[in-house]
Amino acid sequence: ARKFFVGGNWKCNGTTEEVKKIITTLNEAEVPSQDVVEVVVSPPFVFLTFVKSLLRSDFHVAAQNCWVRKGGAFTGEISAEMLVNLSIPWVIIGHSERRALLNESNEFVGDKVAYALSQGLKVIACIGETLEERESGSTMAVVAAQTKAVAGKVTNWDNVVLAYEPVWAIGTGKVATPAQAQEVHCELRKWLHENVGGDIAASTRIIYGGSVNGANCKELAAQPDVDGFLVGGASLKPEFVDIIKAAM
Ligand code: 13P
Repeated sequence: ARKFFVGGNWKCNGTTEEVKKIITTLNEAEVPSQDVVEVVVSPPFVFLTFVKSLLRSDFHVAAQNCWVRKGGAFTGEISAEMLVNLSIPWVIIGHSERRALLNESNEFVGDKVAYALSQGLKVIACIGETLEERESGSTMAVVAAQTKAVAGKVTNWDNVVLAYEPVWAIGTGKVATPAQAQEVHCELRKWLHENVGGDIAASTRIIYGGSVNGANCKELAAQPDVDGFLVGGASLKPEFVDIIKAAM
């Protein structure tokens, strides 16, 4: 069975005071054990060590990005080696905001996944179609191409979580219906089965992201191929705890 996975992507949000408040809420929450749900919070780089120092030990931290290759003369970038040096176990790669706003291509995302994995990081790899792509019927073609670019670079699937985040659902309050999410997750698992292997298709977590909240998480979590969530806005609020509890 695939262990439920709940990630909180804080994006470019937070002050020291807000961070303390969020972490206090998480630390006091009664949630299922780590055998049932894996919880990862992803603050901006500048708060990573602060969050790690405060956060309960059964929750883990993720960076939101890292540089595509070994560090060096790349002003403003953060390398995978630095994250490893700080014992940050996870990194989010290929978020749609970076794909759209910073022009990260499928190939670039694949290269980042490859390098992060090579350094021992675990990767939350993000994929997802735009509204235009969905309406033109190319959802599966788009997410398959994005998945292929990642899959071609994966050495150890134990260290990869695939996050399906339809762009039209991110930050819009327009969550995918449980049926819409299940349909794509099921197709993605089929893709993995056919192109990577049956065991990996069965064991790889495919999580959903896009306007997940405390009210809609239960029904989504009940879908057979939805193995957890990547949460944006609601991960900054106490309702993140309710989303973690959707694992039960
Ligand atoms: P929202 O939950 O705010 O829609 O964001 C989802 C997301 O992009 C998580 O990575």
